[in-house]
Amino acid sequence: MIDVHNVHKSFGPLEVLRGIDLRVREGEVTVVLGPSGSGKSTLLRTINHLEKVDRGWISVDGELVGYRRVGDKLHELKEKEVLRQRTRIGFVFQNFNLFPHLTVLDNLVEAPVSARRVSRGTAVETARRLLDRVGLADKADAYPRQLSGGQQQRVAIARALALEPKVLLFDEPTSALDPELVGEVLDVIKGLAGTGTTMVVVTHEIGFAREVADTVVFMDDGLVVEQGPPAAVLDAPRQERTRAFLSKVL
Ligand code: ATP
Ligand code: MG
Repeated sequence: MIDVHNVHKSFGPLEVLRGIDLRVREGEVTVVLGPSGSGKSTLLRTINHLEKVDRGWISVDGELVGYRRVGDKLHELKEKEVLRQRTRIGFVFQNFNLFPHLTVLDNLVEAPVSARRVSRGTAVETARRLLDRVGLADKADAYPRQLSGGQQQRVAIARALALEPKVLLFDEPTSALDPELVGEVLDVIKGLAGTGTTMVVVTHEIGFAREVADTVVFMDDGLVVEQGPPAAVLDAPRQERTRAFLSKVL
């Protein structure tokens, strides 16, 4: 479902991704771990084409991200095409990024209506179903500032789902939350995993990784150092750098 092939990315002189290969099969959950600055967010952002890769390529659901292949050349997609692709790749940010001036319901309705030309009636119906799914049916008319962080993040997840994405990317979805609110957000993500949603989750929640991940990827310094089932990577890491990292977070 997601295929990342030899991806390189630099910011000026700093090479942040140094040849990343990653495959996520349909319905699988991949958890990405790694120290600050190792390139985790940049990797997620390249999958969504929020960052262009310098070398290599990425495909999602069989479609190249950001490019079209013509013969043996890659042509950049027009902005409109990139936006269409992005609606297929849901992204949940650390800081929720809800529209503050819209109600919870309208946060979910906005994109399907404007980007997908879904009728408002249909979009509202879908939004109410999704809010129910994340346990927030009663908050439809509230504004984001009236919600707790955990509730806001659950709205953000519902909003991502409203576009029926092929894959969902989470960038540290619980790290801005007070500890007592982390569980409710992880439970929603676990629920999605249980229904076969393809996901990549950057998180430091090792318990979550152990319970939910099909694959754990450990990144350091722009490279995938180690990957495999949670029991292998978390309990019997082969690489010294993985061991050193885990000893700090466990
Ligand atoms: P964290 O755990 O702190 O979120 P991360 O693994 O997500 O870290 P990235 O955000 O991908 O790391 O950043 C990797 C490196 O790239 C860092 O050194 C960062 O400063 C740098 N970087 C990221 N985005 C940019 C940018 N737009 N311009 C310049 N440098 C950037
Ligand atoms: Mg990050």
